[in-house]
Amino acid sequence: MAEQSFGVIGLAVMGENLALNVERNGFPIAVYNRTPEKTDAFMHTRAQGKNVKAAYTIEDFVKSLERPRKILIMVKAGAPVDGVIDQLKPLLDEGDIIIDGGNSLFDDTARRTRELEPMGFRFIGMGVSGGEEGALNGPSMMPGGTKSSYEYLEPILTKIAAQVDDGPCVTYVGPGGAGHYVKMVHNGIEYGDMQLIAEAYDLLKNTLGLNHQQLHEIFAEWNTTDELNSFLIEITADIFRYIDPDTNQPLVDMILDAAGQKGTGRWTVQSALELGVCIPTMTAAVNARIMSSYKKERVAASQILTGPTGKYEGDAKAFIDAIRDALYCSKICSYAQGMALLSTASKQYSYNLNLSEMARIWKGGCIIRAGFLGKIQSAFIENPALANLLLAPEFKQSILDRQSGWREVLASAAKLGIPVPAFSASLDYFDSYRRDRLPQNLTQAQRDYFGAHTYERIDKEGFFHTEWTQIS
Ligand code: NAP
Repeated sequence: MAEQSFGVIGLAVMGENLALNVERNGFPIAVYNRTPEKTDAFMHTRAQGKNVKAAYTIEDFVKSLERPRKILIMVKAGAPVDGVIDQLKPLLDEGDIIIDGGNSLFDDTARRTRELEPMGFRFIGMGVSGGEEGALNGPSMMPGGTKSSYEYLEPILTKIAAQVDDGPCVTYVGPGGAGHYVKMVHNGIEYGDMQLIAEAYDLLKNTLGLNHQQLHEIFAEWNTTDELNSFLIEITADIFRYIDPDTNQPLVDMILDAAGQKGTGRWTVQSALELGVCIPTMTAAVNARIMSSYKKERVAASQILTGPTGKYEGDAKAFIDAIRDALYCSKICSYAQGMALLSTASKQYSYNLNLSEMARIWKGGCIIRAGFLGKIQSAFIENPALANLLLAPEFKQSILDRQSGWREVLASAAKLGIPVPAFSASLDYFDSYRRDRLPQNLTQAQRDYFGAHTYERIDKEGFFHTEWTQIS
């Protein structure tokens, strides 16, 4: 009997929790997972007593859904999504809606849209952020595709989303791959935030010698500030308090310093390079994870390569405040880059993104949720055509008030031999963006010298070439 109103394929962390969220909000659910034992495990535990119907074949799953069918695919991104869509295609009817809620590459989403929509199906590529807890209690969702298809889903999505003071953390993002593009940049920003926090931690621990209780207190205090209040700062404070039961040491000290990555950070950097958008903070964050993975090489190199070490000798309290300022200024630069990337992609791919709405739907439910996003939302409401977030009066002033601390931190880090790639990349971004003249006049001269690439002049129109060896 076709009586379930929403279907979920894929019962790993995200699928299970989203299914329970949808059911809790009053929509009877059907579930299907490739491996039936996982379906059984779900049905015998978390789904017990809930309006959840398990299917053990994809045919039974499709049959159990009311039309137009609404099917959320939450499987591993890439070929598995195509595989599931191929299984669904012969079973679906015109007007049925397939939602890919995984971290799919936006190009794949655009391709799937081009394939599925002419067949009469509706396809929504939807970024979902918030991890396990968000999926269960209210994620931030970034759905893209045809607007009329989104409208079928809106009553469900607005109910299951995180709710903030000005609405649910979901909105129609734009056509084709727009939803997954925005989710990709969200993740790139998340990489940037996490790296900036890691650098602040490194400085606090290794230049000031703070212990884990002190680190906990500093991050907990930063989390009460207007500037830094955020989910990532909050969980960082919690992490410093956690003692490993096996060793009685802070657990964070027992964790191998090699960060994993699944690809969305790298895709963000690749897309930015392709679109010619400068995103050095996020690039530094991706590189930092790559460098962290050279664990064996770094251990060997640490025995050979020497450099400065030592502690910060000045006023510790003032230095802690300066690190906080460096973190905030760098974060502003990182978000400025992320929003600039969204703005360029919006023009290039005709996404017609509403940047203030993108900031709004990130205010709750997702990993980068932060009080600070309200300021970004306001900046784009005030000026939707804002060329760069750094130019918004709020952020311009914030940096003006804090840049001496930021510079002090970078100078001290360099002197003490502490790597701060994302702090540095952010300050370089700021200093480059505010310069009316950069040294690329010389680059142009060199290009013309060795490759006759020509150059433009500042005093007259046109393209010029010089025979540089014939010195006048
Ligand atoms: P996952 O580990 O990425 O994927 C596991 C799920 O994919 C299982 O249900 C698995 O089925 C299914 N699967 C894998 N290959 C398949 C195939 N060839 N055909 C059919 N099903 C296949 O699960 P996840 O962590 O819940 O994430 C789901 C999606 O959401 C991913 O795209 C992920 O990147 C994205 N996402 C994850 C998070 C997070 O915090 N985990 C947050 C946001 C977005 P079997 O049980 O049969 O193996």
